Amino acid sequence: MHEKLIPIRQIVTARNPGESEFHQAVDEVFESLGPVVARYPELLDSAIVERICEPERQIIFRVPWTDDQGTVHINRGFRVEFNSALGPYKGGLRFHPSVYLGIVKFLGFEQIFKNALTGMPIGGGKGGSDFDPSGRSDAEIMRFCQSFMTELYRHIGEYTDVPAGDIGVGGREIGYLFGQYKRITNRYESGVLTGKGLSWGGSLVRTEATGYGAVMFAEEMLKTKGLDFEGRDVVVSGSGNVAIYAIERAQSLGARALTASDSSGYVVDTEGIDLELLKQIKEVERGRMSDYAERRGASATYVSDGSVWDVPASVALPCATQNELNGRQAKTLLENGVVAVAEGANMPCTTDAVHMFQESDVLFAPGKAANAGGVATSALEMQQNASRDSWGFDYTQDRLQEIMRGIHESCAATADEFGMPGNYVAGANISGFIKVARAMVAQGI
Ligand code: GLU
Repeated sequence: MHEKLIPIRQIVTARNPGESEFHQAVDEVFESLGPVVARYPELLDSAIVERICEPERQIIFRVPWTDDQGTVHINRGFRVEFNSALGPYKGGLRFHPSVYLGIVKFLGFEQIFKNALTGMPIGGGKGGSDFDPSGRSDAEIMRFCQSFMTELYRHIGEYTDVPAGDIGVGGREIGYLFGQYKRITNRYESGVLTGKGLSWGGSLVRTEATGYGAVMFAEEMLKTKGLDFEGRDVVVSGSGNVAIYAIERAQSLGARALTASDSSGYVVDTEGIDLELLKQIKEVERGRMSDYAERRGASATYVSDGSVWDVPASVALPCATQNELNGRQAKTLLENGVVAVAEGANMPCTTDAVHMFQESDVLFAPGKAANAGGVATSALEMQQNASRDSWGFDYTQDRLQEIMRGIHESCAATADEFGMPGNYVAGANISGFIKVARAMVAQGI
């Protein structure tokens, strides 16, 4: 790390004690910024680096709700409004028991640079709750979302802060949240949330966008070496929205996606994941990967220990959650001949794993570039809402593809410009940082 950044790193640690994921995300960006500090020392004069690490506003609130038996539960809600230099705060809500301030800050911090990379006018933010949706009825989910929005509504708005989904928050939850916002404010403010249903302001391709986008980014990386997805074996972790649509796009390009996983285990399907069955189980029944293995027949095996990274493949798409792929697993992937890794989730590779990929000649795409298709399509949804329009699937998908190509191009060009060709981590961090920093300088202290 550049010597001028070390004291700033110490300030961030002292201000945010115990928030290891946030520290990890900050380090990952700081490790890339040395050449920027050397070239633009004036950025340090206005304390830009320190300012960028301190959220503009952090909101923590109580979320009381009643379960189907009449018992009252209390959860904690968060919204970290990190940076509004480029536009209204934008980023998802995560409902998962692991959520605490440090997770929301890591995600919000990543979101600043990711959103900048999309080229769309959106700032960075993130929110969520330690609420565990698993096993909860529809009515319980609805009451939780209503209670969550009863506090959140006063902090958000189409020009202020625009939440969307993340882990544990999909179309159903966005519907309940939007309904409560409308009820409280008496405003049909479509642009206040993204990921809405198609008949009430949502955008085509938003559901598919993160997974499709990650594969589009990987396609661009492969192209630089004269390679493509045709005939490749791909390992995918996760079985949510990102994983499902990464598998769909990889298979549409002629690849065979061998795996999908959830928190209990994973499935290896030697004939390639049966998407119709996977969608039925995960999107309709909200079931488990073990159900998939039971119903699929001879080609599928359910494995409850180890990880999908033990399965040989030439492309790896981690699409589950943070720190799900460590150094040891990276080593296994390398031994098995992986040529490209693209992060569909946010920070799924540990620092060790990232270093190992970078030291070999694997093409490695960091999440803030590879998974930016989701939030980019959210920005397209905001655009449609602002003009009271709705676009067709092909047009929206073409816009997404154009954005993903643009992100690839700007990461690659920035890495070249700063003397680190092929280093997409440095390219993404530097390109996102410079864009936000310039806007902050222009807007004053
Ligand atoms: N949660 C997604 C992300 O990590 C999407 C956020 C959004 O659409 O605002 O980027």
